[in-house]
Amino acid sequence: MSSATGRFTLIFCSVLFLFGSCKTKKDIVYSVPEEFMQEELLDTLVISDVAGTLDSLPKEYRPSATLMFDILHTRLDLKFDWQKQYVLGNADITISPYFKPISSITLDAIGFKIHKITIADKPMLYENTGEKLIITLDKMYKGKEKFELHIEYTAEPNSNAVTGSEAITSDKGLFFIDPLDLDPDIPSQIWTQGETENNSRWFPTFDKPNERFTQEIILTVEDKYLTLSNGKKISTRKNPDGTRTDHWKQDRPHAPYLAMIAVGEFHEETEIWNEIPLNYMVEKGFGKHAKKIFNHTPEMLGFFSGKLNYPYPWDKYGQVVVRDFVSGAMENTGAVVFGDFVQKTDKELIDNDNDYIVAHEMMHHWFGNLVTCEDWSNLTLNEGFANYAEYLWFEYKYGKDRAEYHRIKEMNGYYSQVFSGGAHPLVHYFYEDKEQMFDAHSYNKGGLVLHMLRNYVGDEAFFASLNKYLVDNAGTAVEVDELRMAFEDTIGEDLHWFFDQWFLGTGHPHLDVTYTYNDENKVLLLEVDQSKTPNGFYDVFKFPVDIAIYYADGTVQYYPVMINEKKQRVLIEDLKEKPVTYVFDGKNVLLALINENKTPEQYKAQFKLSANFMDKMIAFTSTNDGNADLIDIALKENFYIFRSMGINAISDSNATAYIDRLQSFALTDPHSEVRRDALLKLLNIEDFDPMAICRLILKSEQAYPVLQIALEVMGSAEPEKADEYLQKFKNDDSDFLSGTLAGIMKDETTENLTYLESKAKNIGVMHIFDYFTRYQEFLAGKSFAALERSADFLYTLASAKDGNMYRKFLSMSTLIKIAEDLGSRNKTSPDPMGEKLLVKVAELKNNILKNETDPTLIQEYKGLK
Ligand SMILES: [Zn+2]
Repeated sequence: MSSATGRFTLIFCSVLFLFGSCKTKKDIVYSVPEEFMQEELLDTLVISDVAGTLDSLPKEYRPSATLMFDILHTRLDLKFDWQKQYVLGNADITISPYFKPISSITLDAIGFKIHKITIADKPMLYENTGEKLIITLDKMYKGKEKFELHIEYTAEPNSNAVTGSEAITSDKGLFFIDPLDLDPDIPSQIWTQGETENNSRWFPTFDKPNERFTQEIILTVEDKYLTLSNGKKISTRKNPDGTRTDHWKQDRPHAPYLAMIAVGEFHEETEIWNEIPLNYMVEKGFGKHAKKIFNHTPEMLGFFSGKLNYPYPWDKYGQVVVRDFVSGAMENTGAVVFGDFVQKTDKELIDNDNDYIVAHEMMHHWFGNLVTCEDWSNLTLNEGFANYAEYLWFEYKYGKDRAEYHRIKEMNGYYSQVFSGGAHPLVHYFYEDKEQMFDAHSYNKGGLVLHMLRNYVGDEAFFASLNKYLVDNAGTAVEVDELRMAFEDTIGEDLHWFFDQWFLGTGHPHLDVTYTYNDENKVLLLEVDQSKTPNGFYDVFKFPVDIAIYYADGTVQYYPVMINEKKQRVLIEDLKEKPVTYVFDGKNVLLALINENKTPEQYKAQFKLSANFMDKMIAFTSTNDGNADLIDIALKENFYIFRSMGINAISDSNATAYIDRLQSFALTDPHSEVRRDALLKLLNIEDFDPMAICRLILKSEQAYPVLQIALEVMGSAEPEKADEYLQKFKNDDSDFLSGTLAGIMKDETTENLTYLESKAKNIGVMHIFDYFTRYQEFLAGKSFAALERSADFLYTLASAKDGNMYRKFLSMSTLIKIAEDLGSRNKTSPDPMGEKLLVKVAELKNNILKNETDPTLIQEYKGLK
């Protein structure tokens, strides 16, 4: 596969994820506005076909790996053959028996050529199966006796030594990106992705999460490259042959899947936090944005260290962006790798920052890297905490509404998976494939369950229990019982009931709640019915809940009850007066689908009286009659999502009454999403002239989503000013507006053609499709001279050897558009020049087809006319 495929897969997966989430929203008790889903980017979550449906759960138990020996230390000395994409390695591995004496060991080493295996310079007998090295030791080792195994090898991560076939793209462990530097658009890089068990494609190890070792990695690369690995760089030296050797060392042991290297021409920014070196590595063009890309890193390290009462346990914190990463991001100890979707300019980062994913990977340094799940069945002990870290950070930094907004998205992700792929226990010992554990259970549900646990035990006990769990288990592999016991020992209460249903059981409750109020006795009867909970889910859920009762004067009373029966009646007596509304999960904590028999009036009251984000969201979307009083309240809310929601709920027929307010939102709202929504709403008003406000926006707005709309409007309203806009925005360091600029451009001046061509050559994959669409629109109907110049230019782009495949494809399809345009013009008004040009373009097309060697592209070209 070409290197661009990974990027496409990421975009494609995001789209799938959006679709999946939206598709199921009707099944959930509330609906979610489109914007809720837009910022959903994948972190380490891999969207894949999820574990089978309830009745087809595979039955094979997945035990944690049996430990016969323990790797104490791994020292790797690595060089690279960029031409062949090989790793040339020397490994020195210090090993001792785990408990019983050993006379042979088996290491994971996938796709290796072995040159030599020795202990103290004595060659050892070994068998290389292509996946394992079975090594006969020089004697029987007992107790704590150590030996050092020396292995000289060549690793070929692109090949599968067993089948001889190409490795599955995402499983290669180590990736060469544009290794021969054939594509000027793509930086040459090497990076690794170990999780789950893929690091044994570039160094021999026992590739299981319940192993752990200290580590040294020595990398020799061309001097132009920077390197990154786990631990501290303890030395660097230039070699006479123009290469440089960097020595990285980590003294605290970690699991094999967390080992990493990255090599590339990065821009690096550094700073120190609490004596811990921090580094931020990005592609060279993004140097000045590096710190903002990883915004709040020092503050987050302080926040999590404080919350957990456990100082950041590693010796440095590095973060690097790489090309074509196979996942969203990966928490390699002290050396986190991110996909290039986080790489944005300062203006692109406005209201679109990377906080959630930076927080997620950081939290892994306690949950995952310090205390590690012993097998993939217990993956939620890593990922549930990392996802919940996002909530904790939002809550601390931006307030409860922001965190709750995030929690709703997490719930939707989980429900969406359950609806489309079925449910399985959170700690899942019967998975079919370990990669399936990286799903919305381990991640989303894991975090949501921790949130319920936190609310049950209270904040103080929750964080004290987490601290105990970290202290007791630091440097070890764990299973879920260890988490339960840390909580039980801290609070002095048995928690089997909670852990059994949420961690070991399946699903979540489906609840029907009906309210009957008796005015005479001032008594409220609640009937809570779990019987619609699907078969296969945990039978009867037990959970504490605070029932909220709202009164007309704005006061609320909470009634805490424990629900633990399939059908349960709860009688609340001595109410002070007739309530105006109720909320069953009054503090918005549960992971449950809840149906309540409430009237539109009660929902309206809920929107007005509740202070909880989810209550308000549910209420607003449930009443849904475009009523002015709710809109007016929403527009005054502090949290931007409500204001956007209010604006979007204004019906077109009523919008005229809101013109002044909408203009004010469009120009001055602190959040760009609200400014954008207000502007869009204004554009829908028939007798509103948007020119004046769009001019103001073009002068002062910084956020691209708003600017883009104003630019589109003005571009079509004042085509004669296209040049002016081009001058203003053409040197912008983001690609965001390039498509729009191409779209509003009309004249075929040399300057315009040069601009269009330079963008076509350089635009990033994120915006490339939009850009080429607009470029094609521009070319339609242009002079023969302009078309000939463009055809020649597109031909060079499409023929670029190993060029980006999307760019090549889009260049070819633009060339075909030119041919179509010429063809229809020749029909209506034949012209010898036009006919000659048409012949030339056809030749260019055929040449491209003839010379292309990439089978994917050839296939795609055939799909074009
Ligand atoms: Zn994660």
